[in-house]
Amino acid sequence: MFAFLLAAALAVPTPSPTISPLPAGVVQWYARRGADASGLDVSLVRAVIDAESGGDPDAVSKAGAAGLMQLQPDTASDCGLRDRFDAEGNVVCGARTLGYLVHRYGVWQGIAAYNFGAGNVTASGDHLSKMPPETQNYVKTVIDRYDALQHAPVETQPPWTAFPRAAARQSWDGALTNLCAMDPLIITCAPVGAEIALGDTPHLPHTPELLGKTARAVREAGGSIVHVHCRNDDGSNTHDVARFRQAYEQIRASSDLIVQFSTGGAIGMTPQERASVLQLRPEMATLTCGSVNFGDEIFENSFPIMRGILEKMHEFEVRPELEIFDKGHLANARRLAKEGLLTFPQHVDLVLGVPGGLEATVQNLCDLVDDLPPGCTWSVAGIGRAQIAMALAAIAMGGHVRVGLEDNLYYAKGVLARNEDLVARVARISEEAGRPVATPDQAREILGLRKLTPA
Ligand SMILES: [Zn+2]
Repeated sequence: MFAFLLAAALAVPTPSPTISPLPAGVVQWYARRGADASGLDVSLVRAVIDAESGGDPDAVSKAGAAGLMQLQPDTASDCGLRDRFDAEGNVVCGARTLGYLVHRYGVWQGIAAYNFGAGNVTASGDHLSKMPPETQNYVKTVIDRYDALQHAPVETQPPWTAFPRAAARQSWDGALTNLCAMDPLIITCAPVGAEIALGDTPHLPHTPELLGKTARAVREAGGSIVHVHCRNDDGSNTHDVARFRQAYEQIRASSDLIVQFSTGGAIGMTPQERASVLQLRPEMATLTCGSVNFGDEIFENSFPIMRGILEKMHEFEVRPELEIFDKGHLANARRLAKEGLLTFPQHVDLVLGVPGGLEATVQNLCDLVDDLPPGCTWSVAGIGRAQIAMALAAIAMGGHVRVGLEDNLYYAKGVLARNEDLVARVARISEEAGRPVATPDQAREILGLRKLTPA
């Protein structure tokens, strides 16, 4: 059963580029949870956390071990742990596994087994000198740390006191609705889409040049992400790579917005066409997490299509934004994570009000947010008249907002919208309510994207 532990800790964990190790007191708090769950001494659990991850809950080793106690997927699965980056769940699972090994084999042998695998420890006849140097060093490191911790008082700090913003994000449904403590609001603009015809409005930026101008105006209005579809000059849909390249260049020349390509394309496009634009390596791209009725048509996103798009995202290092049109789409995303194609947390866009998808109600929005894997950031795109109501809810709940002509043609009854006006209205309301609007670079920080390097 514990053969999988072989690789659990051999490789050095790679610290996450965006999140530094937790404060020492918070690590101690998690170690206490692990000790309570396993019956082990808290200092031993803490010593193993320190040796495994250095206190970084996002650490991933080359061998694929993850989180504070560097769990392999099989170990997590045996514990019933869905998300290895859930710090508390990770430590409880790791400590229980370690507890089993220590009680069965003895203290140092159990520590060795956590690193080297129980079968291998038995095969070496319990002689530390017959184990690989990494394991010998590992046992020494853990035991030295264990001794030191036993003789030094260690502070304990609950995680929610260390991260008020994260607490605000996760307890939106509780009493805590302090907008000032939330992350600044990320406003995404989806200026084009695939559904609107040129004749529907004079404000559709359907050429790369117009997209560049719109990007500048959206940035000035308070936007930080632009979600890109492309059209031909006659207004018809295209996923031509050259056209997307021009659009990317025009947007980048006129703004520092985060550029997010659509891989949804338009109904009728092949999956290959939809994924082809990923080769341009935009900072983000959407991944729609399931098929959905779209008016009288079907927006098709079977598992093979989703896997194909995700593989291209990995190949070109593009960050996904998960598009969720219905509650089952979250189950699909979790299944893709189980297959190893996605890791949580992710940024999720909840698209509500598509004719054929989940209706745009605050209750539905709350249900979806409740069901998100821990640590996910989210935005909401309300379709049509629901756009503003969904935006208001997201501002209050600590989420983020998507607006734009793709989702909504009108500013008010009978008044055609311009993209920048839709962005400006949401920015104005949020600022007025005490929640500032994120710059693109702040949005990159919140989403864990690399900073834009000057060209
Ligand atoms: Zn789109």
